[in-house]
Amino acid sequence: MTLAHTLGYPRIGANRELKRAVEAYWKGELAQDALEATAAELRARHWQEQRDAGLNLVTVGDFAFYDQVLNTSALVGAVPPRFGQGDDEVDLDTTFRMARGRAPTGTPAAACEMTKYFDTNYHYLVPELYRGQRFRIASSRLFDEVDEARAAGHPVKVSLLGPLSWLWLGNTKVEGESGEDFERLDLLDALLPVYGQILTRLASQGVEWVQLDEPALVQDLPLEWRQAYELAYNTLRSAPVKLLLATYFGGLGDNLAVATGLPVEALHIDTVRDPAQLERVLDRLPAYKILSVGAIDGRNVWRADLSALRETLATARMRLGDRLWLAPSCSLLHVPVDLASETALDEELKGWLAFARQKLDEVATLARLLDGRATTDDIARLDEAAAALDAQRRSPRIHKPAVGARLEGVTARDSRRKSEYPVRARAQRTRLDLPLFPTTTIGSFPQTGEIRAARRAFKQGVLDRDVYEARMREEIAFTIERQEALGVDVPVHGEPERNDMVEYFGEQLDGFAFTGNGWVQSYGSRCVKPPVIFGDISRPQAMTVRWSEYAQSLTDKPMKGMLTGPVTILQWSFVRNDQPRETTCRQIALALRDEVADLEAAGIGIIQIDEPALREGLPLRQAEWQRYLDWAVECFRLTAAVVRDETQIHTHMCYSEFNDIIAAIAALDADVITIETSRSDMELLDAFQDFAYPNEIGPGVYDIHSPNIPEVGWMVTLMEKAAEKIPAERLWVNPDCGLKTRGWAEVEPALKHMVEAARELRRQH
Ligand code: GLN
Ligand code: ZN
Repeated sequence: MTLAHTLGYPRIGANRELKRAVEAYWKGELAQDALEATAAELRARHWQEQRDAGLNLVTVGDFAFYDQVLNTSALVGAVPPRFGQGDDEVDLDTTFRMARGRAPTGTPAAACEMTKYFDTNYHYLVPELYRGQRFRIASSRLFDEVDEARAAGHPVKVSLLGPLSWLWLGNTKVEGESGEDFERLDLLDALLPVYGQILTRLASQGVEWVQLDEPALVQDLPLEWRQAYELAYNTLRSAPVKLLLATYFGGLGDNLAVATGLPVEALHIDTVRDPAQLERVLDRLPAYKILSVGAIDGRNVWRADLSALRETLATARMRLGDRLWLAPSCSLLHVPVDLASETALDEELKGWLAFARQKLDEVATLARLLDGRATTDDIARLDEAAAALDAQRRSPRIHKPAVGARLEGVTARDSRRKSEYPVRARAQRTRLDLPLFPTTTIGSFPQTGEIRAARRAFKQGVLDRDVYEARMREEIAFTIERQEALGVDVPVHGEPERNDMVEYFGEQLDGFAFTGNGWVQSYGSRCVKPPVIFGDISRPQAMTVRWSEYAQSLTDKPMKGMLTGPVTILQWSFVRNDQPRETTCRQIALALRDEVADLEAAGIGIIQIDEPALREGLPLRQAEWQRYLDWAVECFRLTAAVVRDETQIHTHMCYSEFNDIIAAIAALDADVITIETSRSDMELLDAFQDFAYPNEIGPGVYDIHSPNIPEVGWMVTLMEKAAEKIPAERLWVNPDCGLKTRGWAEVEPALKHMVEAARELRRQH
C-alpha cells in the first residue's frame, strides 16, 4: 500500500484563528491558557482533517505560535543569553521575546533576526550561534503535542528541522562576538547528542517515525557540510525511531549520492520542482529504503493533474512496491488553507485550484489510484480534475492570442534605451535642471487611518467612487504641498490610493485573480494574500496616469511617477504553472511598458519602477542564477526602455546585498537607482564603486523603519562618505524606503533635515 502523508500543514486556521488569538494575547486581551486552548483546538482539527482525507499518518511538530525554526531553537535550548533564560524550561513568552523583543511577561530584549526561509516568502527566526554553545532539551512542547495527538488516537509522525539545516540557517555573527573565526559546523558535535535524546524520548512516547527536514540538501553545499551529513546521520541512526529525511524546494543535484546514501529508513524528494530527479533517485536508492515522493505542489495553488501523475508515478510504484510513499512536495504551510472557504472566486476558477485541505485529498486519492484501490469518490475526483484541467487548457479567460502575438513580436531593440546613459544624462539634465545632490523620496507617504478607512469604505461600496477619488486627490494635494514647503526637488504623489504595491496593479490587470480568504503565513501572526496569476496578462486601461497627471498639475517641479516592476509583481504572486515564469514576467513587463509610455505622454518626466523583490527571485542553486538574472533584467528593461532619452527612469531596491548581483543591477540600466544603505554606513556602495557602476545612485540616508528623526550632520557625513565612492554629480539624497508606515509627525522633521543636509552638501561641493 502506498502510504499518504504530508510534510506539514498550515497552522493559522481556515479563518486565521491563530493570528487573532496570538495578537489578542500580546495585547493582554487573552489569557495564556485560552491561547493554549485555541492552539490545541487548531492542532486537533488539523490532525483530524489529515485523517479524514485518508492520510495514513498525521504530522506533529509543524505547529508553532510564531515559527517552527524558533521552536527548534527553543527545543535544543539555543536561547541567546540576553533573554536571561538560564537552565529553565523555555516558556511561551521567552519564544515571543526572541521573536519580537517583548511579551506579556519577561524583560524586553533585542529580538532575533528574521529572514526568508529558502526561496519562500515565509520568514524564520535566525538561530544565533556562538562558540562553545551548549545544547539541552529545553522545551517539552513537542513531546506534549505528541501525547496530545496520540491521546486523540492518531498514528503519529513527528516533523522536526534536521540538525544540519538548523545550523545551516543559523548565524554566527552574534552581537558583541566576532563570527569570523568559528564555523557553524563546529557546533555539530554538541548538538547531535541532544537530537539523539529528543529521538529517544519520542520513541519512549511510542513514536515510530520522525521526519527530519533537511532542505539545505537542495543547495550548494561545501564539502565539509556533505561530510557532516554522513557523520550526523551515522550518529543518529542508533536512535530507536525510524527516520524520514525530508528534502524539498528543489532537486538534490550533486547532493544526490549523499542524500540517498544516508543511513535513514526513508527519503523524501521534491518532484514538483525537479521531476527529473525521480528516476535518478530510483536508480540510486538502496533496496531497503522507502521513497516519499513529493508530487503534489506544496508551493502553488493549482489543482494537480491526477491522471498525468498516475502515469508518471506508475514506474516508481512498480519498482518500489510498498516502499513508495506519497506527499506534497513540501509542507503545505506555503499555500492557503481551504478552498471551500473561498468567497471571492468564481466557480470556474475555483475548479482550477487546490489549497492545503484539497491537496490532502489529492495525495490520498493519488495513493489509492496507484495501488489500484481507488474508490468511486476517487474516480469522480480524477474525472473532475481531468475535466477542469481540460477546460483550463482551452479557456479563453487564460489564453489571449493578442498577448502571445505581441510577445512574439518583441525584439532585442525593445529592451534597449535609444541612447547610452551619458547621452541620456545630458538630455535629462537639460530638461529637469536639478541641483547637485537632488532630493527625493521613495514613493509612499504616511498611510493615515483616514486614508485606510476611505479605501475600505470605497471597497465595501459605502463610499462613491467620485467621493473616494476626491478624497485621494485631496491627500495628494496635501502631500505635494508639504513637499513643496520642505523643498524636495523631485516630489511624488504619495501613493494614498494604493493598498499594496502588487495588489494595486494586479487588480487593474487582466489575468489576475484575488482570493477572499487565501491567507498564507508570512511571519509570526502576519499573513499575506498573494494574487493568483491565472491567465495571459494585459492592461485594459491606464492604471496610474490620472493620479500622476493630477499631482504634476499642482507643482512646477518634476513629479516622479511610480510603478511596481514586473519581477516584483511576479515574485509576490502565485504564478501559473502552464508556462515558464519568465514568459509570465514578460507579459507583465509589456503591460507595464504601456503604462510607462502613457505616463511619459502625459508629461511625467521621471518614472520609478520598483523592484524590491528582484534579489529574492534568485534560484537556490548558484548555477541557475545567471539564467534568472538574464530574463529578470530583460523584463525590467522591456518595461522601461520605451521612453525617450530625456525621460528619467528610476528603480528602487530595499535590501543590502549587491555584491554578487551588481552586474545585473548595472544591466538594468536605470538612470537612477535608490537603495537601502543607511544601516550599513555606506559600505554597501563599495560594490558599486568596485564595479565602476556608471549611472546615478541615491543611497538611502536614513532608516525609515525607525521612528528616530535623523540629524542633519549625520546625513551630511554619510553622503560625504558616499561621495568618496561615487562622484558627487551622480548622487541623490533620499530615505531608505517608502514612508507609508510612518506618521507625518516623523516624516516632516526627517525630510526637513534631509533637505537641509542636501543644501549643506551643495555648499561644500
Ligand atoms: N514605492 C514604494 C513605496 O514607497 C516602494 C516600496 C518598497 O520598496 N517596498 O512604498
Ligand atoms: Zn524599499
